[in-house]
Amino acid sequence: MIYLDYNATTPLSDAAREAMLPYMDRYFGNPSSVHAAGRETRAAVDDARDKIAALLHAKPGEIIFNSGATESCNLGVLGLARSGSSAHRHLISNKAEHHAVLHAVEHLQDHEGFEVTWLHVSKAGMLDLDQLADSIRSDTKLVTIMTANNETGVIQPMREISRICRDRGVLLHSDMVQAFGKCDVDVSLVDAGSFASHKFYGPKGTGFLFLRSGLPIQPIMFGGAHENQRRPGTENVAALAGMAAAAQWVLSDVDEESQREAQLRDDFWKRITNIFPDAQQNGDQTHRLGNTLNASFIGVDSETMLMALDLESVCASSGSACMVGSVRASHVLLAMGLPMESARSAIRFSLGRRTTAEEIATAADALGRIAERTKDAREYAVA
Ligand code: PLP
Repeated sequence: MIYLDYNATTPLSDAAREAMLPYMDRYFGNPSSVHAAGRETRAAVDDARDKIAALLHAKPGEIIFNSGATESCNLGVLGLARSGSSAHRHLISNKAEHHAVLHAVEHLQDHEGFEVTWLHVSKAGMLDLDQLADSIRSDTKLVTIMTANNETGVIQPMREISRICRDRGVLLHSDMVQAFGKCDVDVSLVDAGSFASHKFYGPKGTGFLFLRSGLPIQPIMFGGAHENQRRPGTENVAALAGMAAAAQWVLSDVDEESQREAQLRDDFWKRITNIFPDAQQNGDQTHRLGNTLNASFIGVDSETMLMALDLESVCASSGSACMVGSVRASHVLLAMGLPMESARSAIRFSLGRRTTAEEIATAADALGRIAERTKDAREYAVA
């Protein structure tokens, strides 16, 4: 199997597995228990928090552990929008966000009386910074803009976005899920940032929200006093230990690895254009994650292409993995103004640490066979 779907999820790293094992076996206490068994796992939770905070140049108290990106984005968006003054009921976002943000913002718009300005996204997937600056009003509470897009890999200019928000005194949340471990992530630019362990070779079902010190947030779940009253529930100790180890591992050589993946990705694209001369890349090609290639194979429906790739043992995806089973065109590509036929024929290939040059060559050979078959099918259909 050739796995080219690392933006959907990544395999568990050895570093994460090793860090997790003791907490799946010997150490099992509830970290909230005051006895020795509890103190052992509490130490592991504290250690994971310290490690992650150090990697982000943040304070341990700024890290709120939770179940992953969807929960983090929900907490960041809902929790910040609902906290503080009720006179501020204006939000700013854009339609190319992941549904974890998009649906949370839409919920506030549809059910809680917030007004939302949806920023335009260019054909290349970039935000218009002048429009952002012009959209900020005296009652704006929160701007939420993702750092790197999961479908196209497009990276937004977070430094400029941050400057605009800070100058105007509005809060900024960023979905940093795809950026962490792939490009520069600077949490000092934002008030809140969302992260998911399974996107950076840690275990699934865990993640965290970075929340700038001193910023109040309304919890979205209720129960215990965990995470400093901000997110209740007994901690998943093994997963937290694994996430911290994965984070350390993935950041140890992020620049070299991202260049390696970008070279493989560009080689793959050359091979693709030899086979499908009409294929078009989607998304800005300069401000983009090194591992992501989103391309439209005009005339070949994405679902058909994905099934054909699957038969050739190549794993890729169309749109967001969370939309599997749906034949709807990607909301991200439509937000970028791509024509329906481009959106409906788009495939996302995302490379990762285990991707090799041989795999890229084999995947390209598979595409060559698929091209022959689809050509035959189209000629047959015309006849
Ligand atoms: N945000 C981004 C950018 C993502 O890529 C994803 C997952 O694909 C999510 C949020 C949601 O992640 P999860 O399903 O792990 O909660």
